[in-house]
Amino acid sequence: MATIEVVLGDITRQDVDAIVTAANESLLGGGGVDGAIHRAAGPRLAQAGSAIAPCDPGDAKATQAFDLDPPVRHVIHTVGPVWEGGAYGEAEVLASCYRRSLQVADELRARTVAFPAIATGVYGFPPGEAARIAVSTVRRTPTAVTTIRLVAFDEATHELYTAALHDEIGGDGPC
Ligand code: ADP
Repeated sequence: MATIEVVLGDITRQDVDAIVTAANESLLGGGGVDGAIHRAAGPRLAQAGSAIAPCDPGDAKATQAFDLDPPVRHVIHTVGPVWEGGAYGEAEVLASCYRRSLQVADELRARTVAFPAIATGVYGFPPGEAARIAVSTVRRTPTAVTTIRLVAFDEATHELYTAALHDEIGGDGPC
């Protein structure tokens, strides 16, 4: 079973094999975490993304990591749900983002993967529910990934992840 880590930090600075970005369907780059990853990876990321676009909400597709610092070798682009109140399958689409990203990581033979808090920025998904979905989904997805790092960009998200992990595994896990 993979180790789930919770950290506070910038996803572009993680020492992992693959980082996940909260993309939009064009895979051309956007704001927020996707903008930060595209700036760090350089313009070839958008070129590679557009070549494999579109990516549906809940799906994930991989490119190289280009100018991102090693050991990062892959960027996994996943498209979260736009929050429309919760009655439109948003939770299932968000869970699918985490599942599909881990499946793609397995195809790439990545062993360490970092995720941002998908859909909790511009897409408006409530962060507490998103944190619970992230933790429970990565914990339940069969994978050869050994370390799954949930990267919070702010203290509040870090606390939500820590609480979700505590609820999920009883407080003995690394955080
Ligand atoms: P979405 O469009 O899927 O909502 P956003 O990029 O707007 O995606 O936000 C998703 C999450 O990523 C938010 O919690 C935001 O604070 C966080 N975030 C923004 N920049 C970074 C970064 N450099 N590293 C990690 N997380 C980040």
